[in-house]
Amino acid sequence: SEKRETFEFQAEVSRLMDIIINSLYQNKDIFLRELISNGSDALDKIRFLSLSDPEQLGEGDNAELDLRVSFDKDANTVTIRDRGVGMTKQDMINNLGTVAKSGTAQFMEAVAAGGDSNLIGQFGVGFYSVYLVADRVRVVSKHNEDSQHIWESTADATFSVAEDPRGDTLGRGTEITLYLKEDAAEFADETKLRDLLKRYSEFITFPIYLESTKTEEIEVPVEEEEVEEEAEDLNEAAEEGEEKEDEEDAEPKPKTRFETKRTQEWVLVNDQKAIWQRSKEEITDNEYKGFYKAISKDYDDPMSWIHFTAEGEIEFRAILFVPGTAPYDLYDNYYGKASSLRLYVRRVLISDEFDELLPRYLSFMRGVVDSDDLPLNVSRETLQQHKVLKIMGKKLVRKSLELLRKLARDEIAARKQLEEKAAKKAEEGEEGEEQDDAEEEAEARLKETSRQYIKFWKQYGKSIKLGVIEDTSNRSKLAKLLRFRTTKSTDSDDLFSLEEYVARMKPWQKQIYIIAAESLEAAEASPFLETLKAKDLEVIYMTDPIDEYAVQNLPEFDGHRLQSITKENLKFGDEEDVDKKRADLYKDQMQPLVKMITKLLGDKVEKVVISSRVAQAPAVMVTSQYGYSANMERIMRSQAF
Ligand code: ADP
Ligand code: MG
Repeated sequence: SEKRETFEFQAEVSRLMDIIINSLYQNKDIFLRELISNGSDALDKIRFLSLSDPEQLGEGDNAELDLRVSFDKDANTVTIRDRGVGMTKQDMINNLGTVAKSGTAQFMEAVAAGGDSNLIGQFGVGFYSVYLVADRVRVVSKHNEDSQHIWESTADATFSVAEDPRGDTLGRGTEITLYLKEDAAEFADETKLRDLLKRYSEFITFPIYLESTKTEEIEVPVEEEEVEEEAEDLNEAAEEGEEKEDEEDAEPKPKTRFETKRTQEWVLVNDQKAIWQRSKEEITDNEYKGFYKAISKDYDDPMSWIHFTAEGEIEFRAILFVPGTAPYDLYDNYYGKASSLRLYVRRVLISDEFDELLPRYLSFMRGVVDSDDLPLNVSRETLQQHKVLKIMGKKLVRKSLELLRKLARDEIAARKQLEEKAAKKAEEGEEGEEQDDAEEEAEARLKETSRQYIKFWKQYGKSIKLGVIEDTSNRSKLAKLLRFRTTKSTDSDDLFSLEEYVARMKPWQKQIYIIAAESLEAAEASPFLETLKAKDLEVIYMTDPIDEYAVQNLPEFDGHRLQSITKENLKFGDEEDVDKKRADLYKDQMQPLVKMITKLLGDKVEKVVISSRVAQAPAVMVTSQYGYSANMERIMRSQAF
């Protein structure tokens, strides 16, 4: 067999391991969840491969797609074994020595910023969490296309890989042995492991077995020799003339005796239910949250979810989640993003990155989709072309937007309720009745709901704006999800929808006024605002570079033009005859001045006109209605977006 080779970890990985070993002390137990999750991924892969090539699965034990966890108290080790796809020698070198994504750097930043080991899975470096509890790790793996290999590292910047001298002992799959650090010896324990597995593996769809050792008192027959020996002893004693008188009454010699024996068995710890197949009514919030964590690599609760069954042209079940916090790389490589929904066909995972299921701007959504109507026995590529996926995609978008709309609606309703409560309290005066615990809890929930959409918006607002730009067919639904700071906002959380704006419009007001600027300060200081303020007209601030792009794609809302107050054609609707006459008069009188300025500025401007749009400032620069605003030109120059 080939020689043992030593490799150096990619420098990034080395630094990562150093941090994991030396500075992360909390949540050490997540290593188990990461390893189970990797084992489950590997099982998903072989199950998928076997759809088109049943030979891949093998037979006998190899076809048993399960995970097994065992431990050895004396040796201080924990071993996780899966019958997944396994790794070839090259896979081990690539996957357990380098990181594919740029996750490490971001993970380390997150740790520096106070994050803990909880974050590790999200950054695609979950395997290295083994070094939270172990200082030596051995991975034995057998892939269908290679001989069995052993990867080993003591976390000293190098790892070794060698062909396994024992030959093929696994059949297929991976066995990871952790040599626990002294301060992690608690993990080589059945109760500890069972508790962790119950917590972390509830929604793993493959059976997970834990090795259980029992000591039993068992009755074993006393062997012939022993009986004879005893008899001899007695004879000797008899010859020496001792205890002779008892001989006749002696108890009959026992034919059996008791022995302590250790028995070993595999105990199933999870029930592998597919939660999305169950009816909504019988699933608790905690189950949804647990399931979300199992599929998302996130350790925090989701913000919200929707569980539904689609019927009609194609039937499928789905659960969609909005993560509590946006993934750290949500807008990196935006145009190369695929959706992260897990697509199952009859409970078999086909893929977790299908472009067709959700458009890019919804790539933050997590969840599962399972259909019986898709062909199982096809490649991902063929499925990608399948028109059924497009139909599913449409429904998934609709449901996603429904979920977001509900977040927004509930928030508004909760705010109203809180206001009413506050008003009632004020009316009743100080002596209002004491709140009991239940009421207090209800109020706390109400308060949370009253902030949920703002929380969503702050993290995912840009996605909604991208949606307005990219998804023409859902544009009006998306427009309702937009939120902006306006001249009526009191602080940075006081954001309004276009619907709220329209509801507050003056009876004679026709347009929705917006001002785009580099910053809030710049917008607030703009001379363009003067007249509108004087007329008590609300103006929407657009200070995000993407805002103006979004608005260009949204010429109107609810029948009202979105009008930039820095562009020409600004109409107020309350202009009166007197104003008009005065304006005409000014136009006449100022003709010489206009001529002079026009000459002075030459082709730097398109035209110079007399206008009623400013109150204090003597003049403003306006862009033409169909041209770019000054702000947009600034953005385009800097390529900020
Ligand atoms: P991620 O799971 O996010 O890809 P990990 O650090 O957890 O990141 O794992 C790195 C890679 O190592 C996996 O993508 C996979 O290719 C490989 N791997 C890890 N564990 C196993 C396993 N039990 N069986 C097969 N491949 C594995
Ligand atoms: Mg992983």
